[in-house]
Amino acid sequence: MSLSVQVKLPDGSTYTQPTGLFINNEFVKSIKGEKFESICPATEEPIAAVYRAYEEDVDVAVKAAREAYNTVWKETGGVQRGKLLFKLAELMEKHADELAGIEAHDSGKPKATNAIFDVEESANCMRYFGGWADKVTGKSIPLGKDKFAYTLHEPYGVCGQIIPWNYPLAMAAWKLGPALAAGNCVVLKTSEITPLSMLWLANLIKEAGFPPGVVNILSGFGKDAGARLASHEGVDKIAFTGSTATGQVIQQLASKNMKAVTLECGGKSALVIFDDADLDQAAKWAAIGIMSNQGQICTATSRIYIQDGAYDKFLQAFKAHVEEEYTSKQGCPFNDTHVVGPQISQPQYEKILSYIEIGKKEGAKLLSGGKTPASLTKGYFIEPTIFADISPDMRIANEEIFGPVVACGRFKTYEEGLKYANQTQYGLGSAVFTQDIAKAHRFASDLEAGMVWINSSNDSDIHVPFGGVKMSGVGRELGEYGLTIYTQAKAVHVNM
Ligand code: NAD
Repeated sequence: MSLSVQVKLPDGSTYTQPTGLFINNEFVKSIKGEKFESICPATEEPIAAVYRAYEEDVDVAVKAAREAYNTVWKETGGVQRGKLLFKLAELMEKHADELAGIEAHDSGKPKATNAIFDVEESANCMRYFGGWADKVTGKSIPLGKDKFAYTLHEPYGVCGQIIPWNYPLAMAAWKLGPALAAGNCVVLKTSEITPLSMLWLANLIKEAGFPPGVVNILSGFGKDAGARLASHEGVDKIAFTGSTATGQVIQQLASKNMKAVTLECGGKSALVIFDDADLDQAAKWAAIGIMSNQGQICTATSRIYIQDGAYDKFLQAFKAHVEEEYTSKQGCPFNDTHVVGPQISQPQYEKILSYIEIGKKEGAKLLSGGKTPASLTKGYFIEPTIFADISPDMRIANEEIFGPVVACGRFKTYEEGLKYANQTQYGLGSAVFTQDIAKAHRFASDLEAGMVWINSSNDSDIHVPFGGVKMSGVGRELGEYGLTIYTQAKAVHVNM
């Protein structure tokens, strides 16, 4: 059954958008037959209506995944799994322009920068984990003269995956790549806010040759389809990326059948600048750290603490850089000169503006931005916004805003800088700028964070583990760690 609509992109091109749920390598209607619209955040206009999965559709998809696991995928060797992932990466590169266009339209990411980066990163991720697929090995453990043990690193079986809207393709690739490489079948639920690129990618998954049922993609909402996936007794592992509040719900739902859980949740990452830092570099990285992807990054360095001696000079350089490289380049995601697009949705737009009001009321100094750009009356655009002279107990310095709003404050000593950096429930990332190498490494060690950037910000790389401590999550994605979270060790004791 072919379920699709023709969509016209703002650059005048058209493409065919699948609208069905992707189960068993086919696009199908949901059982209730209900649809929901995906909205373009740059124009506020509907793009396409896609089928909405409910609990019963999740059941069908999980059944398909289980059957595929038992009948085909369990017996498919690592070399073949790797080949399929390589093929998928190749197809993603071949269709990079279409994928970037769909992503830009559905999520508001500027096509020439963010959206293209998302596609490249996602294809690289599939290829990277494809390379691991035939390298899943166990250990042999000598236990004396007549005994030894060995480990088998087995897939879980059926994995549920739930992703957010800020990087639909990349968040899916970070999960699909390792799960498939390790030998699992998957049911992935996209965000209800950005379902389109992953449904389109389903075409490529089929074309790459994955057997029916190995990958199933559902468009649906969290409270019914997501909750069913997280609590489903036929799902052996659940991997989630999204807010901390939802992560806590998922953990509870998953406990029903003791599912393994990976949670990548929210953050309020700090960037700490010592007096001896290269301030031009710090200004550049601080801007990347908060303004990339419209500030909608879990690792965004949304709090900046600057040592007294560098405070004024840094803020001057930072403001100038943000205004020149970001504020003046905001607008339609399909214009190649734009690097800043709209926020994802009306609720997010309103939430961010309300935090700007909170910052003003709390007494922070508004240094730049703070409103909708005058020339952009349609779409959810907000100017890159800098608050200065904050105190560490302000709400804008503690709560995740998930937008282009940064709170800057000062500190005096190493101990005070560290205290402010760690003074948060979150522990995703933290950055430090100094030219004193010993201080940099000591600070990295003292920071309570899953990731630390020395003289950079918000960096990630598919070869390096990604994840947080404290309320930012459980487990690590990417790198070899990202593979191991999709296997479980079976110990075999041998008595000769
Ligand atoms: P969200 O928690 O609202 O939704 C994320 C996903 O969970 C969506 O697919 C949603 O449908 C689903 N969901 C919602 N309620 C559910 C429930 N009760 N049961 C099961 N599933 C449910 O988050 P969002 O607004 O889509 O994304 C923004 C958040 O994601 C931010 O907090 C951000 O920091 C976080 N994030 C974290 C990382 C990371 O790697 N740590 C990466 C990207 C985004």
